[in-house]
Order: sequence, then C-alpha cells, then structure tokens
Amino acid sequence: MKILNFGSLNLDYVYAVDHMVQPGETLAASTMETYCGGKGLNQSIALARAGAEVYHAGLIGEEGEILRKAVADSGADTSCIETIAGKSGHTIIQVDQNGQNCILLYGGANRSVTREFVDRVISKFERGDILLLQNEINELSYIIDKAYERGLEIILNPSPYDQNLEGCDFGKISMFLLNEIEGEQITGVCKPEEILDELKERFPGVKVVLTLGGQGAVYQDQERCCRQGIYQVEAVDTTGAGDTFTGYFIASMLQGKEPQQCLTLAAKASAIAVSRAGAAPSIPEREEVLHTDL
Ligand code: ADP
Repeated sequence: MKILNFGSLNLDYVYAVDHMVQPGETLAASTMETYCGGKGLNQSIALARAGAEVYHAGLIGEEGEILRKAVADSGADTSCIETIAGKSGHTIIQVDQNGQNCILLYGGANRSVTREFVDRVISKFERGDILLLQNEINELSYIIDKAYERGLEIILNPSPYDQNLEGCDFGKISMFLLNEIEGEQITGVCKPEEILDELKERFPGVKVVLTLGGQGAVYQDQERCCRQGIYQVEAVDTTGAGDTFTGYFIASMLQGKEPQQCLTLAAKASAIAVSRAGAAPSIPEREEVLHTDL
C-alpha cells in the first residue's frame, strides 16, 4: 500500500544571536546554519525511515534542491516534488543565548499549490492508497475533496491549527493524528478524554491518535482505546517529536501491526528523536528503533 504525503518543504535558516534583534537595530549573528524542515518533509522522512513506501508531493523554489535531496536520501519517492519560480518556503530563526527563539515564516512555494498540480498528483494514486496531510500548504480543502473522490484514505495531522482548516470537510477524514492543543482547538473541550469523546461523537467511525507530550499518547477507534506512556530519556530537543511519532505510527499501521504496537514503536522512535538535537536529522532508522533498549 502506497502513502502519499502532500506537504510542506522548508528551509530553516538558524542564526545564533546575543539577543533578539530590536526594531531599527542591525545585529551581527555569530553563526548561521541551514536545515531542511517543514512538517511535511519531517513526516516523509520519518515514514521512509520507518519502512513505509512514501511519496512526497509538494513544491520548492529554485534554491530548494537541497530539500528534494533530503527527502530522496531518506528513501522516499520525490517524483511528485516540483520546482517553481520564486522562493521555497523558509523560516528565519533567531536563537538567543538562553535558547529562546523567534521565528519568521515565509510560506513561499508551499503556498503556491494549484488545483491543476493537485489533480496531477492525485491521479497517480488509487483507491485504498493513503493520503497524509498537515496544515502548512494551501488548497487543503480541495486536496481532501479530490482524494476522497478517488477513494484514498485520508489521514489529517491538523497542525498548525488555523482558520484554513475550518473550510475542510472533516467528514472525509479517516484518521486524525493530533496533539492536545490541536484537539482542543478542533473540539473546544480541553481534557484528553473529552477531546476523544467529542471527536467520536462528531465523526463516527473516525480513528484518532492523540499525543500528550510527556504524558504519552492515546489511540481510539469505534471498538478500542489504548494508551502508551513515554520512554524516559534526557530531553535534548523536542522539535520533531510529533512528526516522528506520526511517521512511525502510520508506517507501523501499514505494516499490519495492532494499534498498541504502533503506539509503542512510535513512542520509542520519538523518544530517541527527543534525545538528540535537530528535527529531521534526529529521526531514527527502523533498525535503531527495534534494537535500542530504552
Ligand atoms: P507535538 O510535537 O506534535 O506537540 P507531542 O509533544 O505530543 O507532539 O509529542 C509526541 C510524542 O513524542 C509523545 O506522545 C511522546 O511519545 C514523545 N515525546 C514528547 N516529548 C517527550 C519527552 N520529553 N520524552 C520522551 N518522549 C517524548
């Protein structure tokens, strides 16, 4: 079974500064690093490292070849990544001496998705294939409608949650993978049990994976509800924990594993990712997850 991940590809430009630059000030940064990121890219890399047959669809600008290469190097298929005129999606991140950050996001190519591009991508997939979406590209509602029409099973990670999502037909979603904050934003209730009840009532038959940071995660479908705690590690960098969890949970599900086992593998993979620096580079390979004792 193929999985299409239609999502963002971002260049993250990270500058180390003494303090955040102030209005009117010119400030020299002491170091500058470029990283490949975006929830779309991170989740494709996590899916590929977890052993899934993943196809990434998305748009990059002329300076974005490094993004295509990062996805390809993980083993994911990049034939649905196209280059357009203009800039790739990117962030300018200042990190000060206390480790605080300030992020300026430019959607760039990620926000230039056309309906014609969507049609071209979706036509390459068939009934029963899976579509994974996050909320960092435009035309989300159109993608959901087209994929549903074609018989794809749609998994939505509604992250980051914003108004755009309100125009989407959530009735066409088979599975939500979300954190507590997004769960609260969608349902208007805040306790994990209430979020799960509300989603079950509003979208009968939907599967839900709710991640709870340090409290672990819960899976719920019509018949079952299972829980998973975290693997205790020294947290170095939690960026990308959710993306690693998403990739490993879905890949394990596609490999035919039971929900409880999918949760366990996803929790272990994300704990490993949390124990080291960076987002995409910290996502472990499947072999490492299987052979590491935590
Ligand atoms: P997001 O990054 O989307 O907000 P969460 O913070 O809920 O996602 O984290 C996703 C998963 O990553 C959790 O369910 C947990 O398994 C794992 N995780 C997050 N933080 C830690 C941590 N400090 N130690 C170990 N595992 C963690």
